[in-house]
Amino acid sequence: MSPMTHLMFADDTLLLGQATIKEAMSFKRVLSIYENWSGQLIKERGLGFPDTQTFNQVLLCKQTWKLITEPNSYLSKVFKARDFLQGDFWSTSLGPNMFKHIWKLKVQSKVRHFVYKAIHNRLATSDKLLKRHVKLNDSNPACTFCGYTVENGSHLFHTCTFVKDLYRLLQIPDISQAPIDFRELYEKFQISLRSRKFRLWTICMWDLGFQRNRKFRGQPFRVPLEITSFGETFLATDESAPTLLKDLLPPMV
Ligand SMILES: [Zn+2]
Repeated sequence: MSPMTHLMFADDTLLLGQATIKEAMSFKRVLSIYENWSGQLIKERGLGFPDTQTFNQVLLCKQTWKLITEPNSYLSKVFKARDFLQGDFWSTSLGPNMFKHIWKLKVQSKVRHFVYKAIHNRLATSDKLLKRHVKLNDSNPACTFCGYTVENGSHLFHTCTFVKDLYRLLQIPDISQAPIDFRELYEKFQISLRSRKFRLWTICMWDLGFQRNRKFRGQPFRVPLEITSFGETFLATDESAPTLLKDLLPPMV
């Protein structure tokens, strides 16, 4: 099968390619030919924008949303065919229900992006940095907060003494004796916690990730009590967050 290079729809055109300088230059050339030909001016998102990663995630989510809500659309059929060839889309990603749950979550999109990354275990914890041969201060993947054990997602968000203090302050009872990762925590808490408490939990976990990075870089960081009060304030100013996916999306090219 020849590689898919573009998809055209009524309201979007997606150009697909590798993240290389060569491909980016080709994209620019294609877009300028199109501009000359059509007389339209194209805003080049994804090329040189500082928030490219966020934009790409939002775009990906918009397309995933289409896959869920319009299963019989041409886009869905193309992706299904592609995924059958390249492995199961949902088993490596989120199930449709979990995806819907995350995107309906009434928190700011940056918190939602954090949740998405944490569920996919894509946060740069020390164990991962070591695997990627990023030099750590003492070549040790020990937890940034407690220094005790290997820092991975389940330690950072579930079993570390630092996060346990945070749970105590949030009055969230321990959900599992055995260490569980962020995805399992999310699945369990979405059932056991009330909506507001669940949102507060996601915000506090997001801030915990931030504070972990600050401590990792030797910068001042918030302790659990400060994280909970930050979370409460953040949630209070966020109560009117938009819930519709379209409200979160930037205008399309
Ligand atoms: Zn720890």
